[in-house]
Amino acid sequence: MSGYCPSLLIVTYHYVRDPGEVRYPGIHPVSMQRFRNDLARLGEHGTFVTPSEAEKFLTGGGGHDGPQILITFDDGLQDHWRAAQQALDPLGIKGAFFVSSRPLTEQRALLVNKLQYLRSITPPEAFRSRFLSLVPPEAALLAVQPAFRAKACGVYVHDSEEDACVKYLANFSLGYDDTEMVVDELLAERGVSETVLCDELYMNPDQMRSLHNDGHMIACHGHTHRPLGTLLLEEMDAEVSTNRDALHGILGERPGWISFPYGRGDAIPQDTERLCETFDFRVALTLMSDWNVAGQDPLRVCRVTENQYAGLLKDIPRMADVSSRRVA
Ligand SMILES: [Zn+2]
Repeated sequence: MSGYCPSLLIVTYHYVRDPGEVRYPGIHPVSMQRFRNDLARLGEHGTFVTPSEAEKFLTGGGGHDGPQILITFDDGLQDHWRAAQQALDPLGIKGAFFVSSRPLTEQRALLVNKLQYLRSITPPEAFRSRFLSLVPPEAALLAVQPAFRAKACGVYVHDSEEDACVKYLANFSLGYDDTEMVVDELLAERGVSETVLCDELYMNPDQMRSLHNDGHMIACHGHTHRPLGTLLLEEMDAEVSTNRDALHGILGERPGWISFPYGRGDAIPQDTERLCETFDFRVALTLMSDWNVAGQDPLRVCRVTENQYAGLLKDIPRMADVSSRRVA
């Protein structure tokens, strides 16, 4: 992708907080200052658009002549509300916030966040050995096999071999419920209350309403954050309808967008058309990393993480350079 054709880059953020707060690898936050710097850099290359302007572009209704940028956040963390207050609002940028509802309605945190939290407060070696001691023996045996280890390292290219194996085991080999049982036991051993964790980690309904009233978009991200594409049809529909109804109850409005948890490969539902028609979603976002261009399928929208966008900007000239060239 290069040049000035109409295009849309959607960037997604997870933790926005001081990296100094994190003792061990597990959470990889961007600081508020880095987030502000990112906005400045993105703004040099494109025009920030609102979610409804992005939707217009994605559904074929036109848009700005040149690169457009939309900022999004996944998982409903309180970090996102702070990022809006401290960085987006002063610049008048409107973002889209994808929220899973289990922490709000059941006071149960998302597995992905519990795992990250445990890893961030536990020395890596201690975490690995305790985790492996709690999984079924056949899973622990699998983790030492060379073929398994090679596969794990292929997926988690930025992690050590040991960490890659534990992450692969947790996210791919053990079932979601089995992994959660192990993680809950580890939290209990450390005396961590899930209710307190939810209060500290996630946005509350008032914060969500304030974002909504300020012109940001709040939308669906599944109730429990299970990868939708791996579920039976009825389970998938229950995940989405519970999530949609919870957000509707909080906002007084039905969300029209969804972002798929995990967002890649098998996690993307095969029949996104049926799902989106059933629940009236006009836009569905993945984590397939690319620009969106004219004719993009609005139900398989591409999105990049905070660590990937720089690579996609390298062929895009800064807008200041473009306009000075036009003037000349
Ligand atoms: Zn997520």
